[in-house]
Amino acid sequence: DELISQIAAGEVVERPASVLRELVDNALDAGATQITVKLEGGGIRRIVVEDDGAGIPAAELPLALQRHATSKIASLGELEAVASLGFRGEALAAIASVSEMSLASRTAEAPHAMRLDARSGELAAAARGVGTTVEVRELFFNTPARRKFLKSEATELAHGLEALRRHALARPEVGFAVWHEGRLIAQWRALAPDAADPATPPAEAEARAQARLAQRLEAVLGADFVRGSRPLPARRQGAVEVAGRIGLPDHARSRADQQYLYLNGRYIRDKLIAHAVRSAYEDVLHGQRQPIYLLWLSVPPERVDVNVHPAKVEVRFRDGREVHQAVFHALDAALAERRP
Ligand code: ADP
Ligand code: MG
Repeated sequence: DELISQIAAGEVVERPASVLRELVDNALDAGATQITVKLEGGGIRRIVVEDDGAGIPAAELPLALQRHATSKIASLGELEAVASLGFRGEALAAIASVSEMSLASRTAEAPHAMRLDARSGELAAAARGVGTTVEVRELFFNTPARRKFLKSEATELAHGLEALRRHALARPEVGFAVWHEGRLIAQWRALAPDAADPATPPAEAEARAQARLAQRLEAVLGADFVRGSRPLPARRQGAVEVAGRIGLPDHARSRADQQYLYLNGRYIRDKLIAHAVRSAYEDVLHGQRQPIYLLWLSVPPERVDVNVHPAKVEVRFRDGREVHQAVFHALDAALAERRP
């Protein structure tokens, strides 16, 4: 079973950045408003993710580490309609099988926190407020072949930071602090979400969301990204809604390094959508220039299969044409005025 877990881990956990992605997914699923990440050795030696989410009841701590244990879906039918980022119940088990992991957590009802050491199974009282701390030490210490594939600490740190940026851009209302070797290397303050007031006119709600996005983009990617892009007005076509910010042609880059695509709140990569974007920019961008963008797609969950890839970065659309056209037309309309 240990071996099966280690093999499964190969699909979920490739490097420290994949651990970070899974742990931050879990923190967000738990409703965290503040997430603190502490890294050592680029994340190879140590990753700690602390959140102020709902916590895990003491009795369920050991369960959280079992394969296919998830508190997020109860039936296969629900798999169709998942809104949470995690749903397979694989990540913690997989990470625990290739590292020294511990889990400390406290719910609002609990008199104190409990800490579980994954390897020994030892459960003991611990001190912390409501929320969860996951600590992962010495990634791949027991799978030397895999450990050898890791790059330098600096490179792994860069990948880890990119994984955190992807999360931070999707959730401006959540605060992030990132430490490396005891130094604060990134801090993205939580931006107050709108009060859920049904009386707010949609146009005003959209303007506020755009302002928040611009503020988070500036904090995470820098003022250049905001200066070089414009809001993409939310546009619905069929079942697909497209929004975000798109780059101005004269702010295009030689590398495709500032292209962020989200589907129902989850960062994805998708060739079809990349193609739709390229087509929309076709006559305003020349040579191999790459537009910057952050696109936010909303598609009813039953029209997407997110279960294609364990790392969840790739998805399969029921109707690819519909998505392609919605993205193309949203960008094409926004870019039309700039066409020669
Ligand atoms: P999944 O996210 O697919 O459910 P994981 O292996 O990532 O599977 O996590 C297993 C379970 O552990 C989750 O379903 C959740 O109940 C619990 N859990 C993990 N991390 C946290 C966290 N930070 N806060 C609260 N619960 C958590
Ligand atoms: Mg998860």
